[in-house]
Amino acid sequence: MVVAMKSHERRKILIDRMEELAGQGQDCQNCAGTCCTFEANSMMVTPLEAWEIFEFLKSSDLIDQNLKEKIFKTIKEFRLDQSTGNGKRSFIRRTYTCPFFHHRELGCALPKEVKPYGCLAFNAHHETIKAKEFCYSEKKLLMERDELFSKQEEMENERVKNQYKIYWDKLPLPVALVDFFNADDQQSN
Ligand code: SF4
Ligand code: SF4
Repeated sequence: MVVAMKSHERRKILIDRMEELAGQGQDCQNCAGTCCTFEANSMMVTPLEAWEIFEFLKSSDLIDQNLKEKIFKTIKEFRLDQSTGNGKRSFIRRTYTCPFFHHRELGCALPKEVKPYGCLAFNAHHETIKAKEFCYSEKKLLMERDELFSKQEEMENERVKNQYKIYWDKLPLPVALVDFFNADDQQSN
């Protein structure tokens, strides 16, 4: 599938680094996955990143009432969709437990090819200690990736925004997905 190929291409530099670290024994084995919970996770995504996850879920037939309820519950519990009061969608960054996290080691339900860039860049940097000071995001690598694909992604983001009538640039992942679910429901009615 072209989309999957493109999405993998744009993540390759991050996935390669993750595999390099894993080859040195610096991976997420034996960790409860704190970085995916409200203790550390505040992931926000662009329309393109959210669309890639939405497309993956849709093509894998994974969008059902259970998933939607889990996502709505997350939004409510962590107050992710707060209005700024000026008529625009809020961009407040809040922590939340990701609805795709299974609460166990290596517990992300999404494949690497569609995971948010920020999730892929956040890695363990120690063989045995899985704690804050040894798990972090390599900002330089994220910036390198951004630079490589900025032009292409600008166009792709515009395409997605036009197609789904989206007016934001970044939202918490659960809130972003609801816009795609709603637009898809409207298009199929
Ligand atoms: S990055 Fe660190 S906290 Fe997150 S799952 Fe891996 S080892 Fe655990
Ligand atoms: S998308 Fe996956 S890796 Fe990212 S926060 Fe959610 S469960 Fe964790």
